[in-house]
Amino acid sequence: MQDAAARTSTDTKDATGTYDYVIVGAGVAGASAARAIRRHDEEGTTLVLGREDDAPFYRPDLSKTLWLEDDAAPGGDPASGWLLDDEARAELRTGVSVTAIDTEAKSLVLSDTTTVGYGRLLLATGAQPRTLDLPESDRILTYRTLADYRRLRALATPGTRAVVVGGGYIGAEVAAALAQNDVTVTLLMRGETVQGHMFPQRLAEEVTQEFRDRGVTVVGNSGAASAVVDGDTVVVTDTAGTEHRADVVVVGVGVIPQDQVAQQAGITVENGIVVHRTLATSAPDVWAAGDVARYEDALLGVRRVEHVNNAERMGSIAGQNMVRSRTGSDEPRAYDYTPFFWSDLFDYGYEAVGILDASLTTVEDFTDDGSAGVVYYLDGGQVSGVLLWNVWDSVDQAKAVMSQSLTEPLGRDDLVGRIALG
Ligand code: NAP
Repeated sequence: MQDAAARTSTDTKDATGTYDYVIVGAGVAGASAARAIRRHDEEGTTLVLGREDDAPFYRPDLSKTLWLEDDAAPGGDPASGWLLDDEARAELRTGVSVTAIDTEAKSLVLSDTTTVGYGRLLLATGAQPRTLDLPESDRILTYRTLADYRRLRALATPGTRAVVVGGGYIGAEVAAALAQNDVTVTLLMRGETVQGHMFPQRLAEEVTQEFRDRGVTVVGNSGAASAVVDGDTVVVTDTAGTEHRADVVVVGVGVIPQDQVAQQAGITVENGIVVHRTLATSAPDVWAAGDVARYEDALLGVRRVEHVNNAERMGSIAGQNMVRSRTGSDEPRAYDYTPFFWSDLFDYGYEAVGILDASLTTVEDFTDDGSAGVVYYLDGGQVSGVLLWNVWDSVDQAKAVMSQSLTEPLGRDDLVGRIALG
């Protein structure tokens, strides 16, 4: 674990306990903002507050490279490194959360009962995993932090059994990662097929078959109804009444934006903290970024995005705008970037933009052998999402198609062949 104290720079608060910039949330968005602040403001003091005990790290590693690369994470360190380097010259306090924000006094109360003043404040508080009504046990985990990873690593050794609940990103990626580490996996999902709510049926069925071929027991139309912890074993009863014995249970059933403290402070919240296109919130000198921010996307309209590319880019723009506000140097920048996301499942991989909703009309453009292709998701004539299946370096083209369709309805004939398949 990185020593948080070692990250503390000489850039500290002033005599009144006030920092020029305070960032609440030591995740990807918060770290990105701290780096951007330092790139644009040599002088300002920055404090980053994190609820987790670890310094900011690259969260996608948790369900990908940490399990799949031989030399990754010997001590549980993230494969892609810590995100708050010395150059950011930010003071980092971990293991602490904000319990109240006073937007008039411009101060925060922390869980250790201390107070901190801010000149400019960024709320990058992220999201918290949803839980199920299962017993409290250190063998039943949600999965978001490095501590979760370390715990799962300790329990999910080769030859052990895991039950994974949820067929979204965490469920699919963790089930695949565990199966590749010789863990016997049972995947309980609400849908019939792995990520079937996102992929066209043929593709979802192919992916699901791959999970089965790799030894994963896939149980569709299911979920965890209850669980009993019996010594080192958890017995999970699924919604059909079947029992599954496991050494560890991973629950990946979505996340909830951590916007409660903002709401209590009177900041406008609506399933996330509502931000202007400059990422400013309804309170003066307060910005928000990352999973928690509800913003207006240039291509997709008002939304919240729970993907790392969004956290990186939003954090950076928020940091720049906080500097611009402090120095009065320039007008704030709009966040006009539409983020992409990606996933790797066994030997499959994809990148995507926008809304992958299998209930929309889809146009599929695949190679003859079906190994690579593009799926366009149509809402009327508007392309609201593009899936690039084993097709790389084409995210900008996907965005261009989506942008064009905002003013010019597109259909199958316009789309097939539009993005090269390899
Ligand atoms: P998620 O992708 O939103 O998926 C949650 C899944 O849980 C959905 O399939 C949902 O099914 C299912 N579910 C909900 N309640 C359930 C229940 N009671 N029993 C069984 N299944 C249930 O969330 P996640 O997988 O937990 O991931 C957490 C966050 O990490 C998300 O924000 C995600 O975007 C992010 N993440 C992203 C990546 C990536 O970009 N590659 C990778 C890992 C994590 P329904 O569809 O039927 O509601």
